[in-house]
Amino acid sequence: MPKVKQGVYEIEINYDWCKGCELCIEFCSFDVLEVDEKGKPRVVRLEACTSCKLCELHCPDLAILVREL
Ligand code: SF4
Ligand code: SF4
Repeated sequence: MPKVKQGVYEIEINYDWCKGCELCIEFCSFDVLEVDEKGKPRVVRLEACTSCKLCELHCPDLAILVREL
């Protein structure tokens, strides 16, 4: 599973579980995530992540995790 780390946060996306519903992208107010060429979320602005976990909490497939390191 790809992990993107910076500072104190890490976002891990399980692409086997993710169905590309984009809910995580819609719930992120800080444009941390965008849709990649396969229709799945990609981390593009981790520095803007506040670790609010709205993406994680709304993912119906438990496919995105935000961790404080
Ligand atoms: S934890 Fe919050 S700020 Fe960080 S990517 Fe998820 S929704 Fe966006
Ligand atoms: S909310 Fe979950 S299933 Fe939907 S695109 Fe994001 S990671 Fe994938």
